[in-house]
Amino acid sequence: MKYIEPHAHMVSRVTDDYVKITTAGCQAICEPAFWAGFDRSSVQGFYDYFCQLTEHEPKRAGKFGLPHFCWLCINPKEAEDVKLAEEVIAIIPKFLDGPNVLGIGEIGLNKNSRNELKVLELHVDLAARHDQLILVHTPHLEDKLKGTRLIVDALKNDKRIRPERVIIDHVEEHTIKLVLDSGMWAGMTLYPESKCTPARAIDMAEMYGNERLWMNSACDWGVSDPLAVPKTALEMRRRGHSVESIEKLVLQNPGRFLSQCPKFKPG
Ligand SMILES: [Zn+2]
Repeated sequence: MKYIEPHAHMVSRVTDDYVKITTAGCQAICEPAFWAGFDRSSVQGFYDYFCQLTEHEPKRAGKFGLPHFCWLCINPKEAEDVKLAEEVIAIIPKFLDGPNVLGIGEIGLNKNSRNELKVLELHVDLAARHDQLILVHTPHLEDKLKGTRLIVDALKNDKRIRPERVIIDHVEEHTIKLVLDSGMWAGMTLYPESKCTPARAIDMAEMYGNERLWMNSACDWGVSDPLAVPKTALEMRRRGHSVESIEKLVLQNPGRFLSQCPKFKPG
């Protein structure tokens, strides 16, 4: 089955994962900028990371015939240092014209702090000034509902932002309606241990319909599964979903959202 992986942190994955996902039918892979598992000590660390995302990782994916795209930002976990965040945001524009850059992400909140909110607003302004798509990370566990509300409000408050050009990722049962009602897209992250299991994701798709909705593995350096999307597609088939409705969720929907950036071309 053909599918698009709209959220994967391939710099943390081994080459065998590229073999697995291309064998499973992946047509394109998209990599948001994120927390590397440790705090970078300077803006130079981010400069090198952005070079990795825009130059080196696309070459590695290209060896498997897989188109690689990315999103750029300073992630919320490192956004507590507003001065560093301002320095990082200042170097992003020079990367935005890169052929694989889709937009600004994954921005958002982690602990819902005042500084994180300030840096979120700086990113939203950056996206608006450069007419970029936005991909948003929402906080975990008890911070998720409040954080999602704060994020949706911040995006709505900036009248330059069109909701259909924003995807709010890591939605769960208690946040998906809030996101879809705002006119933005919702992403469901399939994790073996936290976030959302395949069964819960399929339940949500059945309850809320599969418009403005996608699924991703968000595979990274932690316990995660780069094949989570095709495995969930198989589970949908077992539950009796039609091939057409599965393809809509795993291929056409991400394609429709991402193609709002003209640079996005799946394989
Ligand atoms: Zn991520």
